[in-house]
Amino acid sequence: MLQTSSILPRNGILNHLRHQQSLIDCLETYEQRVRMSKTKWLQKKKSKAFKAAFQGIEKTLKMLALGSSNYCNYCESNVGSSIEHIFPRGLFPHKTFSWDNLLWACNQCNGVHKHAQFQIFTSENSAKTLDLLKDYSFIQPPNDDAVFINPRTEDPLKYLQLNLSTGHYEPLSEDRESRGYKKAYYTLQTLRLNQRKGLLAERIRSIAQFGALLRQKGLTKEQLQLYIVDMKHPTIAKEIARQRSHPLATKAINLQLL
Ligand SMILES: [Zn+2]
Repeated sequence: MLQTSSILPRNGILNHLRHQQSLIDCLETYEQRVRMSKTKWLQKKKSKAFKAAFQGIEKTLKMLALGSSNYCNYCESNVGSSIEHIFPRGLFPHKTFSWDNLLWACNQCNGVHKHAQFQIFTSENSAKTLDLLKDYSFIQPPNDDAVFINPRTEDPLKYLQLNLSTGHYEPLSEDRESRGYKKAYYTLQTLRLNQRKGLLAERIRSIAQFGALLRQKGLTKEQLQLYIVDMKHPTIAKEIARQRSHPLATKAINLQLL
């Protein structure tokens, strides 16, 4: 899982998002705002102009997704198919049309695994977490200090590392009581990134393929970059560059490819 780039849609589209958001934010009660969030989101393509704005939004989100096939930003494997709200709009109506809260994700990550699950930390600097899906219904969460890693605004590799031998993602911190560990663990559990057998097998295969590529005679830096830009699981390349002592990294460094 990697942090997305910071490409923006054009100003007219951003203004459209801000305006739609303002129609939710102006309502008096939290319950009204949650209800309006649902209505406004369902009506997001209700007219020709709205439809055009959302086509622009989807186009830009696909540019933030991975490779030319627009792979999902979470699993780095399935082709993305819809707009995901990182902070669920049913809990955080003030983020319904917030550009930084949108991501291009696949149906498995968005609809099956993450769905509306969400945890926050109880307060700043605390590592105690609160499960919002179980505890809240039309009750405003006390803050938006998310446990779930937001790849639009945070670097997931500050919390996660990919084990290049097993293909598993692991928390970077070893302190199970730290915020960093909890962010990593909760994000991995929510998306089932290590438990989805097909996904794990594919990630292991991708590591092996990357190793085979590095062993190819005459491979140039440019060829390697072209491969990385379009590969599934591009975190593998990032991790090889980060884990300098790993045999794959040594190979790449010796070939002056990293
Ligand atoms: Zn996915």
